[in-house]
Amino acid sequence: MGGRQVWAEVDLQALKDNFFKLQSYTKSEIMPIVKADAYGHGALPVVKTLIACGAKRFGVALLEEALEIKTVFPQVTVMVIGATEENDSETLVREDIIPTIFQLNQAQALSEAAVRLKRSVRLHIKVDTGMGRIGFRATEIAEILKIAELPNLIIEGIFTHFATADQKDLSFAKKQLKSFQTVYDQLKVAGLTIPIRHTANSAGIIQFPDSHFEIVRLGISLYGLQPSAQISENIGLQPVLSWKAKVSHVKTIETGETVSYGRTFQAAYPTRVATVPVGYADGLRRALSNQGEMLIRGRRSTIIGRICMDQTMLDVTKISNVQVGDVVTILGKDGNEHLTATEMADWMSTISYEVVCGVSKRVPRLYKEA
Ligand SMILES: *Cc1c(COP(=O)(O)O)cnc(C)c1O
Repeated sequence: MGGRQVWAEVDLQALKDNFFKLQSYTKSEIMPIVKADAYGHGALPVVKTLIACGAKRFGVALLEEALEIKTVFPQVTVMVIGATEENDSETLVREDIIPTIFQLNQAQALSEAAVRLKRSVRLHIKVDTGMGRIGFRATEIAEILKIAELPNLIIEGIFTHFATADQKDLSFAKKQLKSFQTVYDQLKVAGLTIPIRHTANSAGIIQFPDSHFEIVRLGISLYGLQPSAQISENIGLQPVLSWKAKVSHVKTIETGETVSYGRTFQAAYPTRVATVPVGYADGLRRALSNQGEMLIRGRRSTIIGRICMDQTMLDVTKISNVQVGDVVTILGKDGNEHLTATEMADWMSTISYEVVCGVSKRVPRLYKEA
């Protein structure tokens, strides 16, 4: 047969279109968030495409992710929006990667490394205004001011993260914003003026213009997905990733016969069964057993029986002429039908983010160039 049996297609033109569409919603600089291998899309091709769109600064969660990007694209600014360790300080200084600082001892280690290497290093201060994750509390102004006293540090930015910017009710997000502004103003009064502020994620850019400031941090929307079902405004983003496989086997089973482990599916009528060589090891979550759907010949078919590690079965009784080698769409479009990561996420009570991040490494990404 040859060729791929399971693959993901990444449409870099859609990524570009999404970038420019989102840029039309704000005057702020977009910092694309490309953590977790660009939400499963592949960090390097995504960064390359967005550099061509004009992006100059990227956000990742881990130092390793930052290093991967800096090695290939040394000209861009990369910021780690998650935690780094004191041990990472020399690497951060040497590679010119911006860390997020939320403890005084991190800043001290960073300063010492910078002094040792006779360099200065940029950092951004994280303020916890209600996410409860990382960040100086809004009361810790004195700590932040101590950082400003340390040698060879440049406090380039200050930021916070919203817990509820994707909800209809923005009252808590507004409270967080107010708290952030208070911290910023108190620092200013004390003589520390920080040039770059950033608070907005994808949800914020669409429905919370007051949160834009100098930079917006955009992840999921660049990949063409809505941050949540509560954001009603459809701004015409296009999903960048689709996920496909080829039928490996087709047969008819008799009434009463069963499919897969545990025999959780029993045929109520003579059932045409298509086997697809994709399973939970590819990121197709086992929770979708007996309930998820896939597209085949432009129609929806239901997953029957338990999803296995490497294989899944579909009921294709109502779809005529399904054959070995037919392309099955797990995410994406086939004819007039469209299965989105958001819909798949709904089936298992999670969010589209987890669906696209979950498409495993074993699934090759095929890039459609912009
Ligand atoms: C992941 C992340 C983002 C991006 O959020 P989206 O909802 O994907 O736009 C922004 N800021 C921080 C701190 C994050 O961790």
